[in-house]
Amino acid sequence: MRGTALVVGGGIAGLAVARGLLDVGWEVEVRERLSGPPDIGGALGVWPVGMASLDRLGLGAGVRDRAEYRSGACLRRPDGRVLFGAHSRGGAHLVSRSALLDLLVAALPDDVVRWNTPVTVADLAPRRAHDVVIGADGIHSLVRRTAFAHAAPARPLGAVAYRGALPGRVERVTEIWGGHRIFGLTPLDAHTTNWYAALDLRLLSEEERASRDPAVHTSVLRREYGGWYPDVARVLAGAPTHGVDRRALYDLPAFGSYVRGRHALIGDAAHAMAPNLGRGACESLIDAVVLTEALAEESTVRRALHRYDRARRGPTRRIVAASRALNRLSVTAGPLRARRPVSAP
Ligand SMILES: Cc1cc2nc3c(=O)[nH]c(=O)nc-3n(C[C@H](O)[C@H](O)[C@H](O)COP(=O)(O)OP(=O)(O)OC[C@H]3O[C@@H](n4cnc5c(N)ncnc54)[C@H](O)[C@@H]3O)c2cc1C
Repeated sequence: MRGTALVVGGGIAGLAVARGLLDVGWEVEVRERLSGPPDIGGALGVWPVGMASLDRLGLGAGVRDRAEYRSGACLRRPDGRVLFGAHSRGGAHLVSRSALLDLLVAALPDDVVRWNTPVTVADLAPRRAHDVVIGADGIHSLVRRTAFAHAAPARPLGAVAYRGALPGRVERVTEIWGGHRIFGLTPLDAHTTNWYAALDLRLLSEEERASRDPAVHTSVLRREYGGWYPDVARVLAGAPTHGVDRRALYDLPAFGSYVRGRHALIGDAAHAMAPNLGRGACESLIDAVVLTEALAEESTVRRALHRYDRARRGPTRRIVAASRALNRLSVTAGPLRARRPVSAP
């Protein structure tokens, strides 16, 4: 089947599905409210399932060229002692979020994405200007709120994440767990360290939760991770001059089908999850490929959307649940205990 699609949102999910649909002869228009891809920085871990989807979209080689590949990771305590070292069979490609978005944008003809063009409720009225409307508009999706009236809003995870990148190389992927706080370090490229931190929201004062001041973010990080493993100390020393992205974390409760009428939800709009398993972008890429194949191969939009929902809802709900459980185990479970000083490694 061929037809026309309106894709709401030009993030990883929206750009990927646009690439897929163009390949199978659909007419596609992407509307994105920002003036260009967001410049959040930091690395994304792309697991083999995500790489396989990028290969299907013809983008795997470009990502491999720009990525650092690692098959091992290490879990440590704040004093540096190793709790657990693991090798995964397929490994992960660590690619900067901006490099991935640039590749996705470059893979589309210039006139496909309309930047600076927010979609409104009026745009979603049932006028049938397009055969399919794809909600790829992220965790607080307007398409979900408008066309899936029964869907519950995103729910807070009780945790806040900080992330950034700074000059200097780390070889290994390391995550450090220290009671209501985790800190992660990965290579971003040959010269840059990617770092992330997640901590229990209860550790922050009201003022710290409300603040958007980078100096406040840095002072929170220095207080909560002071005395940790030396690579963490290096990041904390450099973070103020290289920028810190901070966001409260949410995931999406189950809400039934990912499709309704001619509307389909993909990516975080359908299954936003805690970042602890590093799977949200990978699942967005899989959604894009599965939805493309269904729309290309089925004889009606209705059949295609139901095939997509059947294939994707179960697996993604399981990953949302597992990510939520890991966030709870590592960051938010239990009462806050008095701090014990960290002894040097
Ligand atoms: C700290 C952190 C670390 C992560 N690490 C990883 C990782 O290592 N590996 C991994 O696979 N995943 C990771 N993720 C998850 C990943 O970032 C997301 O799952 C992924 O970015 C979702 O992409 P998306 O396109 O669905 O949504 P988004 O990236 O949110 O894109 C949605 C787009 O829609 C646009 N939009 C919204 N409303 C409208 C509107 N009304 N009109 C027009 N445009 C609109 C927005 O501006 C935005 O550009 C991480 C997430 C976090 C928070």
